[in-house]
Amino acid sequence: MSNASTRVTDEHFAYIAARTTREDDFSAALKSAARKAGIPEIWIAPEQASFMQILLRAARAERVLEVGTLAGYSAIMMARALPEGGRVTTLEFERKHAEFARAWIARSDVAAKIEVVEGDARTTLPKLPAGTFDAAFLDADKSSYPIYLRESLRLVKRGGLILVDNAFAFGQLLDEAPTDPEVEAVRAFNDLVAKTSELQAVIVPMGDGLWVGVRR
Ligand code: SAH
Ligand code: MG
Repeated sequence: MSNASTRVTDEHFAYIAARTTREDDFSAALKSAARKAGIPEIWIAPEQASFMQILLRAARAERVLEVGTLAGYSAIMMARALPEGGRVTTLEFERKHAEFARAWIARSDVAAKIEVVEGDARTTLPKLPAGTFDAAFLDADKSSYPIYLRESLRLVKRGGLILVDNAFAFGQLLDEAPTDPEVEAVRAFNDLVAKTSELQAVIVPMGDGLWVGVRR
């Protein structure tokens, strides 16, 4: 058993969350307003946000790309980990989400550090210049993940971070009869990442499973 991993249970996850910095008032207010606006509650977990901030700080990231803004929560959390002059470019194609995010970003402590680019990421990503990002966080439609990965490998500098959310497919990754239509796409993507030699990556069991990779 010496090489075996500890079996992580719900109790361990609760233990981890209880020892992670508490949600700040601004984030709580943003989430409550998003719920009222009918925006789906699919933002990253607070302990995952903290973990991503640690990764960005350790990587000394300044320019970050995000695919999938939703209400702006993850963009704001990532922007807080960047030095002065740092920037998050976040892509979103739902007008309602982009407008909500812009309004809340404007009221946040990192308003100057975030740009929301409205449009389908499959068309906005190819317009961005190669090698200009220190990190990318992919969190939009799962069937387009292979496109987003290919674009990220072009856009992120060598040695930069590529993070991808929902590797556990909304908890249904290992289900025999998954109900969510995106589960197959997540499974295929996970297999693709494992075969992508330009990326060294591992799934970290935080939130709904987070791919943490470095572009070789
Ligand atoms: N990163 C956010 C959650 C993103 S949810 C957070 O953790 O706070 C996924 C978002 O991706 C949704 O807002 C959805 O509208 C957006 N999206 C889905 N397909 C997209 C596409 N092709 N281009 C851009 N955005 C897309
Ligand atoms: Mg997600």
